[in-house]
Amino acid sequence: MTKLSSLVLVVSGPSGVGKSTALAGLAELEEVEVVVSYTTRSRRQDETDAVDYHFVDEETFREMVGRDGFLEWVTYDGNFYGTPKRAVEEVLERGRVAVLEIERQGTVAVKRQFPQTVAVLLEPPSRGDLEARLRSRGASGEFVDRRLALAERDDPVRGDLYDQIVTSSETSETVGALVRIIEARYRPSAPD
Ligand code: 5GP
Repeated sequence: MTKLSSLVLVVSGPSGVGKSTALAGLAELEEVEVVVSYTTRSRRQDETDAVDYHFVDEETFREMVGRDGFLEWVTYDGNFYGTPKRAVEEVLERGRVAVLEIERQGTVAVKRQFPQTVAVLLEPPSRGDLEARLRSRGASGEFVDRRLALAERDDPVRGDLYDQIVTSSETSETVGALVRIIEARYRPSAPD
């Protein structure tokens, strides 16, 4: 397998599967940069602006769409989410691994634009486990039901789109699996 000196790694998975925790672990790697998306969703109490997302209003989001600032953007569960184009390009120009935590439609769009993309789907060990994790966040029953329905909607397409499927139980194991995927595909650029 030819290794690449820059790489786009997409990580998808249903809400509550542990994507953010796994990516926080992965971000410790020197060659990895997690690209922070923009969203119009309200910030949760445990989230920090510019770390978890750039939280913006709809007008700001639309203005970025208008000047072609997104690599891809979608509406999901009634809110806008988008990947800033320039941020991804900058990571790739630095010869590093750009990690995007995005959903299925965004994954299709990114793969079309960056053929070097590796797309990974994180799966819960079971639906019951996912439901328990979502409820433990203190979210409303209505929110949990909506997000579980969205996860089920995406289930049938997973095999065609994703290069690897990782069962996410322990965070350390999930991070380890992602590191192995990066190691298989990525060759850091030689220092000048
Ligand atoms: P949440 O509201 O739970 O943080 O995110 C909802 C969904 O939007 C998740 O599946 C997450 O991966 C996805 N998402 C977050 N940022 C982006 C983005 O920039 N683009 C796309 N396509 N999906 C995103």
